[in-house]
Amino acid sequence: MSTAIFPNLVAGEWVSGHGALININPSDTDEVVGEYACATSAQVREAASAARSAGAAWAVAAPGVRSDLLRRIADEIERRCGELALLLSREEGKALRDATAEVTRAAEIFRYYSGEVFRMAGERSPSLRSGVTIEVLYEPIGVVGLITPWNFPVVIPAWKIAPALAYGNAVLFKPSELVPASAWALADIIDRAGCPKGLFSLLMGDGTVGREIVDVVDAVSFTGSVATGTAVAQRAAARMIPAQCELGGKNPLVIAADADLDVAVDCAIQGSFMQAGQRCTASSRLIVDVERVADFTQALVARMEKLVIGAAISPGTDIGPVIDERQLAKDLSYIELAETEGARLLTGGGRLNRATPGHFLSPALFGDTSNQMRVNREEIFGPVACIIPVRGYDEALAVANDTDFGLSASIVTSSLKHAQHFKANVRSGLAMVNLPTAGVEFHVPLSGLKSSSYGPPEMGHHAMRFYTKARTAYTFAA
Ligand code: NAD
Repeated sequence: MSTAIFPNLVAGEWVSGHGALININPSDTDEVVGEYACATSAQVREAASAARSAGAAWAVAAPGVRSDLLRRIADEIERRCGELALLLSREEGKALRDATAEVTRAAEIFRYYSGEVFRMAGERSPSLRSGVTIEVLYEPIGVVGLITPWNFPVVIPAWKIAPALAYGNAVLFKPSELVPASAWALADIIDRAGCPKGLFSLLMGDGTVGREIVDVVDAVSFTGSVATGTAVAQRAAARMIPAQCELGGKNPLVIAADADLDVAVDCAIQGSFMQAGQRCTASSRLIVDVERVADFTQALVARMEKLVIGAAISPGTDIGPVIDERQLAKDLSYIELAETEGARLLTGGGRLNRATPGHFLSPALFGDTSNQMRVNREEIFGPVACIIPVRGYDEALAVANDTDFGLSASIVTSSLKHAQHFKANVRSGLAMVNLPTAGVEFHVPLSGLKSSSYGPPEMGHHAMRFYTKARTAYTFAA
């Protein structure tokens, strides 16, 4: 019996494409979550042209109309939270508890931007010339391409789609080829919520579809790896369109000599290993004062050995599988590399067998590592963390900053002086004190430094900088 292939939403119609993405459950590779159509080149162009017409009306729609659509989407996500979380958990492998939190957050984001619609105010400035007034007007940018990764299949699309629509734009959305099910469900919700035909299109597929989208839009917002983000930004620059890229990290968690041990261990467990370390903000470098290496390591290993690794939807699972065979092989190759580089494996690091065939990996902790080792310089994107011993706060800060990345950084300390100094001097977009490196809120900016980000920040009111274009009007009234 052939299974139905989930279609794309193109120019307001659900249409089949060419070929299909086979969506496999990483907790049970015998289970196919569904098959999803790949968009054709012609469909990308058709979606762009429909978005251009629908977007013209949307850009001038009363704010209440835009706000109502976003609120209806939020309500529906919230109403179907359990079902969406289960789907997310099945296709991505995130523990059901984390999937539920992600879906809830997506609803909150749509609700937040339903209010932002009314705060899209312009500015009035004094002029150098008497009798002249100057107004700065913020207008929608047009048709935006939104390209997302696999690790947050609901919330990252939400934090791009919601501001894009709130600030009056039309959307071409391409989710990761590894997680089309959540994206399809979200698109279905947006369509059923009464989104004007053609304003929002879902175009599933791989990087080819992504490239084609960049070629037809007025701006592109991308989240993913540094390599792909660089290619997206270069393609966008060739067309002179704005690009916003949120990319990878190699985030440090500093454990100072005066750290509270429980807080330190909590931050490491949460930041390094939850969601199998598959977070751009995961703390893969644990920079620990030599005075605390022994007690911190002992307490962390004890906590790690209690973590339940298993099928994502099983109650009691702390950490599900990694996303796919390729990611598992990458994680295992870095674990082997760390040992070759002279790191000492303290716990974990092996493939696990469970009742169902899946990509289960025991979280790995390495000791005796240096910041020069490749495992401490390259993003692994798995449940692997390395302890780097340091002497004193100054060395800890220097090591934290010695990286090509700059997304998130945290310090666990009871010194107000060091906390304040760290916030001011650590070179990362997010600075945390006594909190995990992972865990961001939606009403404040998300953006990294160095190779972790390119372009204006996402989230909060700051998203308006990317999703609108400033125009300036001068008036002389004699
Ligand atoms: P990826 O770069 O492989 O893919 C991201 C998206 O780009 C996918 O939809 C993919 O199909 C598409 N794509 C691939 N080639 C393309 C091209 N040439 N043009 C346009 N689109 C193309 O990333 P991934 O493996 O899906 O995600 C993991 C990465 O995402 C990690 O590096 C992680 O750190 C990063 N990430 C960053 C943030 C952040 O906010 N900074 C958040 C989550 C994930």
